[in-house]
Amino acid sequence: MSDEPSLILLDPLGGVADEIDGLLRPFGYRVTAIADATALGACVGRDSPSHVIVRLRGGKEDGAVLDAVRDLAAASGPAVTVIADDASMRARIEAVRAGVEAYLTPPLDALGLVERLESLKRGVRADPYRVMIVDDDVTMAKYYDAVLRAAGMQVMVLNDPMKVIRYLADFRPELILMDHYMPEIQGRELAAVIRQEAAFDSIPIVFLSAEDDATIQQRVMGIGGDDFLTKSIRADNLVSAVANRARRFRALRATMLRDSLTGLLNHTAMKERLAADLARMKRTDRPLTLCILDLDHFKLVNDTYGHPAGDRVLRALAHLLKQRLRVSDVIGRYGGEEFAIALPDTSVEQALPVLDEIRVAFAEMPQHHEGGTFHVTFSAGLAAFPRSEDSARLTDAADRALYRAKAAGRDRVVPAGAVEYGSRDAMHDHDGMRAL
Ligand code: GH3
Ligand code: MG
Ligand code: MG
Repeated sequence: MSDEPSLILLDPLGGVADEIDGLLRPFGYRVTAIADATALGACVGRDSPSHVIVRLRGGKEDGAVLDAVRDLAAASGPAVTVIADDASMRARIEAVRAGVEAYLTPPLDALGLVERLESLKRGVRADPYRVMIVDDDVTMAKYYDAVLRAAGMQVMVLNDPMKVIRYLADFRPELILMDHYMPEIQGRELAAVIRQEAAFDSIPIVFLSAEDDATIQQRVMGIGGDDFLTKSIRADNLVSAVANRARRFRALRATMLRDSLTGLLNHTAMKERLAADLARMKRTDRPLTLCILDLDHFKLVNDTYGHPAGDRVLRALAHLLKQRLRVSDVIGRYGGEEFAIALPDTSVEQALPVLDEIRVAFAEMPQHHEGGTFHVTFSAGLAAFPRSEDSARLTDAADRALYRAKAAGRDRVVPAGAVEYGSRDAMHDHDGMRAL
């Protein structure tokens, strides 16, 4: 499990803490409420929360609250969200000037608040750019490696160009920095070979060469290179050329790989990541658990509360999974109301209590529709490598376990080839949801 994200709530007059806690606790946030604005800085220093929420009510206490926010912003503290009764432009501008990043007015809804907080999270999950360097010149390769690493990037160096294809799927570079003149193969030929693989046809390839001739550069670029840098390039220029291209590639990939409703990996991307993680675990002889999870009676949810309410349920589950699972766990929307989660370095025995805890948290989470709230449950099947040795068998075994979870009454997590694992509440198993 990941560390619980924590949050400090500054509310001088009190009264909103229970509500915020009630909204955010199901998503795994731990809320600490304080009333004294002058204590905010010290509390942030002590707890290093991922967020701060302050309550403004339009009274005289607001001045001290905004002063505390200003001090926090000056010290590059965590993002600050305001919850204010005053929705006027004037009040908003004042908040912006104090360094506030989000301004919400009641009534608050859990999903809106969580999505807002997640969007403000500062680089918590920002992985370093992955760059592959291909250069037969060991000294040059070492130099580029050192420069890019110093800029915080993750680098793989290959001095043998013939090994590139073998390592691509595994390292998943977001940019390839390639020497143009190598003894066995020319850079442009190697680029063409890489481009033959559909999965790699959009990776930026940047050539490095002693060549300064614009004609040669143009010819090479036409074949599949994205940029041409001379070997004498300054270190800082190299870093920015690489970072800019890798950033754009990552943003483009994100829209291609992610499901737009939930922000999770889509089916194809999930399958690719599962295969890559499985290969990694196999090589190092470590376990991996796959969980396939399906919402219970979701058709009935849509029919009863409407499709938009159903969509909100899907988003709420996606957020819950992101909050409760490790950063290294891979979460995908596998189908309409079906999710897949790959947990590397995790056996079924370890995954079971984690998923079951999420199952309980989800079942207890109030879902919202126009007229009030309702509850939804899910069923899940678990299977693990090494018992299932490839991704097809793993998926199949998890699917069968999911089927057994459904057949046994839903709202449960079932490991492959074992007896089913606890049902929270048999009372509403017949329909998988209860109206409140
Ligand atoms: P079971 O417990 O056996 O899984 O029953 P179920 O009703 O969940 O299963 P079924 O496969 O019959 O129905 C799945 C439903 O999920 C039907 C479809 O309308 C709904 N669904 C799929 N994708 C979406 C989506 O993106 N948004 C919404 N709101 N509903 C979706
Ligand atoms: Mg279903
Ligand atoms: Mg289904």
